[in-house]
Amino acid sequence: MKRLKKASSPSNVLRYLWGSAIASIVLTSILSWWLLSGSWNAWHSARNDVIQFNDFYHVLQVSNDLASERAYANELVLSPMERKAQAWKSLDDSRRITDRNLERIPQNLLSPALLMATIEQLNNSRVSVDTYRNQELSDPREAQRSISAMVEATDFYHSALFQHTSSFLLLEPKALGPILRAQALGELRDATGRLGSQVLIPLATHTPIPLSNMEALSRGMERIDVLWWLLRTQGEEAHYLPGFPQRLDNVRQQFESQGVALLNKLRSESVTNQPYSVDSENFAVRYHESLNAFDQLLNTYLTGVNKLYVHAEHQALLHLVLIVIILIMLCALTAGLIFYIRSRVLQPILRLNQIASGIIAGKHQETLMDESTAEEVQALFSSLGTLGAQLREQTILSKRLQRQSEEDPLTHLFNRRAFDELAGNLMAQATYEHPAWLIMMDVDHFKSINDTWGHPTGDKVLVALATTLKKYSRPGDVIGRLGGEEFAVVFRTPGHEDVTGYTTRIQNEIRQLRFEGPKGEPFSITVSFGVASGWQRELTEVLAVADAALYEAKNSGRDRICGLPDQTA
Ligand code: GH3
Ligand code: MG
Ligand code: MG
Repeated sequence: MKRLKKASSPSNVLRYLWGSAIASIVLTSILSWWLLSGSWNAWHSARNDVIQFNDFYHVLQVSNDLASERAYANELVLSPMERKAQAWKSLDDSRRITDRNLERIPQNLLSPALLMATIEQLNNSRVSVDTYRNQELSDPREAQRSISAMVEATDFYHSALFQHTSSFLLLEPKALGPILRAQALGELRDATGRLGSQVLIPLATHTPIPLSNMEALSRGMERIDVLWWLLRTQGEEAHYLPGFPQRLDNVRQQFESQGVALLNKLRSESVTNQPYSVDSENFAVRYHESLNAFDQLLNTYLTGVNKLYVHAEHQALLHLVLIVIILIMLCALTAGLIFYIRSRVLQPILRLNQIASGIIAGKHQETLMDESTAEEVQALFSSLGTLGAQLREQTILSKRLQRQSEEDPLTHLFNRRAFDELAGNLMAQATYEHPAWLIMMDVDHFKSINDTWGHPTGDKVLVALATTLKKYSRPGDVIGRLGGEEFAVVFRTPGHEDVTGYTTRIQNEIRQLRFEGPKGEPFSITVSFGVASGWQRELTEVLAVADAALYEAKNSGRDRICGLPDQTA
């Protein structure tokens, strides 16, 4: 029965294996969920940044388109009749680009009201600009109104753009730097364009620049200075725009040496009432050209920042993919390990266990297993048999060694070391009611036995003596050879009479022993006894008392017992 119970333990191991597998799967799942959701969110946010920035890029592009259309509109207003067709074509192309990009703005990205106002204002300004398709500028105030209408349309659009940027930055504060700089670049493009608008009509009508326009020029230049300063600060996108500050400086220098220099010249010509050194149409074309570099600058910048966001998105995606791969590999490894342990280790053990149980229960071998399994089982049982035999041998050997270390080889009694230990234990367990007794004995004139009959005969005497002691001993008694022809017995008994009887019986038995010398010469021996008793005492103390009693027995004529209770009392 015991065997069968023990044999069911592999299925317990299987249960533990499944238990720990499920626990580790739960823990791994929690960890995986945490890792996955973290990297998923990071990727999602990076992807969102890319989408948002693309929207922003697009919206800003429209601002540029509007500025560009404004410049072409100015050119049409100011162009002489023979150039109207060409100016109209450029303006028409520019309008188509503006319209296409305006349509592409995602729904609800910009304030619908402001976008509507932009489109309405744009259409109005286009209608008034269209009148100059077939006629030259005649009424400067009318022309100024047309130009201002275009600027107003741009203003509405900029309000919508500003609102969008603010809400985007609320969602993504870390995008603040790139967005602000991109917006500053757009503003710069717009502001520089507007500067030119202030001198167009005076140039066309050969009239001095009005004071309000002069003031607008100064304010515009100050605004442009602030924007330049804003653009000098670079964030982490600088890594993706190598040489951008240098490019910025070049554009600024180019604008200041061409556009600003031209404006300043016209301003001083206006103040000193000199004729303008450049006509309006020429100015419009030249000034427009000086602004192209701004468009390119903004594009370069936006492309660079976009790269930054796309790179961040790729990194986040890579991270996510790596985590997914690692988790899949981990799951596969765990499942493989569990499967391997189950199929290669536990199931064979379970199967063998079943077979062994079947054999024990008396089932026929053939019904339990096929031939190859039978061979395996036989091999296993033969190994187990060999193992069992080896274990038994080792147990016997270690028992023998243990006995040898405790036994006197001649008499097979306990040697002194084992006697001291066992007798000491017995002494420690002894009580007043149930004391321990120690009987020490020494063969009388043993030396002369050796001398007379030889050492081997002396040995026989010692063996016979040991046999006698064993014959009278009870289980639990400790009999030892203390050395030479000296022996001792320790036992526990409550009554004095037992001790006296026991000792006397041994004494008489020894007296009755008959020995023969080498030639068959008969002889007998006598032994002297020293008795002592005690409880809770050190063995050495009791030995000393018994030794004293033995000494007394020797001194008082030998072949006697000293230290018995009635003698000590
Ligand atoms: P006493 O009556 O005073 O005890 O005298 P004794 O001769 O017995 O005492 P003694 O101590 O003089 O002699 C003990 C002898 O025991 C000496 C030694 O040679 C002998 N002896 C000790 N061990 C052995 C042994 O293993 N075998 C034999 N044959 N003799 C031994
Ligand atoms: Mg002696
Ligand atoms: Mg002796």
